[in-house]
Amino acid sequence: MAWTIVRLERVDDAGVVAQYAKRSKLGDPRWDFVSELLAKEGYELGPIVGMVTRPKTEWPFTAYIYTSLAKDGQGRSGSQLHRWPVRMASEEEGIGFLDQKRHVATQEDCKLPWGGRRGGKNFRCYLCGHRFKAGDGCRWVLGTKSGVMNFLICDDCDGPDVMERWKTQIIEAGERFWWNNYDG
Ligand SMILES: [Zn+2]
Repeated sequence: MAWTIVRLERVDDAGVVAQYAKRSKLGDPRWDFVSELLAKEGYELGPIVGMVTRPKTEWPFTAYIYTSLAKDGQGRSGSQLHRWPVRMASEEEGIGFLDQKRHVATQEDCKLPWGGRRGGKNFRCYLCGHRFKAGDGCRWVLGTKSGVMNFLICDDCDGPDVMERWKTQIIEAGERFWWNNYDG
């Protein structure tokens, strides 16, 4: 049994951002294995160079990936050293929301393509549906570590049990609006 080591560094800056180790039987790390590991930490693993070419600016991190016999990653064990592109799983990167603290929405925030929809159409509370206006309190919550999607929350809905309420709502919605999950 060996460890798959994933070391994240910023492109053009050798500082290590994070290092993850996961038990693995794989002699050589596989893309899907690493992708799953990083998704749980809130990152998205990009296409392997040669599959698709995308601008470097979209992928501000590089993951250095290899197999090691030691959990701390000392010593590479026969595997290749992979360098794969990585970015935050959320498109909302760069506007300071990822610290998961409360922010006051600005005029600019309200125009950003949240969730991929232009003009801030999806800049809304995921629990009550409130569409944020400039001056509203707003918090981005990392859900991927708990196995659910990331979400935004308004002041009225926020609280210590917000993750539990979000999970309950997702399970309830999946059962009530079953047709939304219908892939036939
Ligand atoms: Zn709300």
